[in-house]
Formats: sequence, C-alpha cells, structure tokens
Amino acid sequence: MTSTRTEKVEITDEDVKVTVKNMKTDAVETLTADKVLMSIGVQPNTEQVGLEAAGVNVDKRGFIEVNDVMRTSVSNIYAIGDCTGKLALAHVASAMALVAAETIAGVETLPISADRYVFMPRATYCDPQVASLGYTEAQAREKGLEIKVGKAPFMPNGESAGFERKGGFRQDYCGCEIWRNLGCSPGRSRCH
Ligand SMILES: Cc1cc2nc3c(=O)[nH]c(=O)nc-3n(C[C@H](O)[C@H](O)[C@H](O)COP(=O)(O)OP(=O)(O)OC[C@H]3O[C@@H](n4cnc5c(N)ncnc54)[C@H](O)[C@@H]3O)c2cc1C
Repeated sequence: MTSTRTEKVEITDEDVKVTVKNMKTDAVETLTADKVLMSIGVQPNTEQVGLEAAGVNVDKRGFIEVNDVMRTSVSNIYAIGDCTGKLALAHVASAMALVAAETIAGVETLPISADRYVFMPRATYCDPQVASLGYTEAQAREKGLEIKVGKAPFMPNGESAGFERKGGFRQDYCGCEIWRNLGCSPGRSRCH
C-alpha cells in the first residue's frame, strides 16, 4: 500500500487488526492478519561475537568498519552486508561479498568506494514492487546536475501484460552535462 499510514494495531486472541489510512483520500481501512512484522530502522547485532577480542573496529553504533574491499581493521578479517552499516539491502550485501571473496582470492575486483553505494540496485520486495538506482531526481537537482527526466508507462510492456498488471511507470534521470544515466526508479507490480 502506498501513501498509507498505520493508525492503530490491535492484537486479539485470534488475529491482529491493523487500521490504515490513505493519506491522499483519507479513506480508513482495517486489515486482518495472523501476525504483523514491524521492520523500522536497522541496528547491528555485533556484540558478543568476539570482535573486541579480535581487534576488529566498530563505529559508535556497533557497525563493523570496512574499507573499499571489505577488509576490517584486522587485515585477515572481512565483513560484508548489514553488519557494516553501509546500505542494508540484499543486492548490496551480495556485491560486497563478491568484492571480499575476490580480494581474499587475490583476483581482480572492483572496490566499492563510499560514493558507489548510491549506484547499487535498490529493490523493495513489496506490492506493488518498487526499485531504484542512482540518485533520485531531488538528489540530482540538489547536486546541481542539469538533468532530463523521462517517464515511460509499463502498460505496453510484454511482461506486464502477461501478468495482467499494467499499472506503474519507469522514470529515468539523465545528466545532460556528463551524459550518463544518473538514476532510475521503476515502480510497478513486477519491476525486478
Ligand atoms: C523485514 C525485512 C525486509 C527486507 N526487505 C528488503 C527488500 O525489500 N529489499 C532488499 O534489498 N533488502 C531487504 N531487506 C534487507 C536484506 O534482507 C538484507 O540487507 C540482507 O539480507 C543482508 O544480508 P547479510 O548477509 O548482511 O545478512 P543476513 O541475510 O541477515 O545474514 C546474516 C546471517 O548470519 C546469521 N548469524 C547472525 N549471527 C550469527 C552468529 N553469531 N553466528 C552464526 N550466524 C549468525 C543469521 O542467522 C543470518 O543467517 C529486508 C530485511 C528485512 C529484515
């Protein structure tokens, strides 16, 4: 559900009732579910695994500090994914793992510097699905980049037609000065 705020959660003996409000239409709806999973914010679970004893540095929130090839402050210990506090997303953890494995194996790799995380695919597994890559339109404008915005509906897309989900669109931002794709945000029923 988009543009929707959770107003109330009631736990009964049988189920959970969640009252939601559409912020555009003010329509209020009550959903019934077996359980509710609340996932707001990310915190590391790095205590009690012996990091301190091993000499691995963590930041003040407990995230493990790594360099561009995922090496920690101890040269033969690497860390990837959520515990590093970089960008807690599945594709990011996979990309970091590849870099760590290639570095450990001593083969060529593509280090991930701080400014490259924004160009990782951000796929949100929800319904409708949402995905983005690169700067948002607002971020690109904030950086003073002269951009062109293109918007294309998914309606004529073969896969969308196949799944009978023709809503949604894809929006691309293209920097005129450097002429490379700065970002895109496909938002539709199936966009991964
Ligand atoms: C509710 C929810 C929704 C999400 N939705 C999305 C989404 O839509 N899109 C997206 O890209 N990402 C999403 N994520 C984030 C994504 O799941 C994580 O970014 C990704 O799984 C990180 O991979 P990881 O390998 O760092 O950690 P994990 O996948 O969490 O793997 C860590 C593993 O280590 C194990 N472990 C922990 N402590 C110990 C220990 N002491 N000893 C041994 N094993 C241990 C855990 O059991 C786990 O199996 C979501 C996460 C959550 C929780």
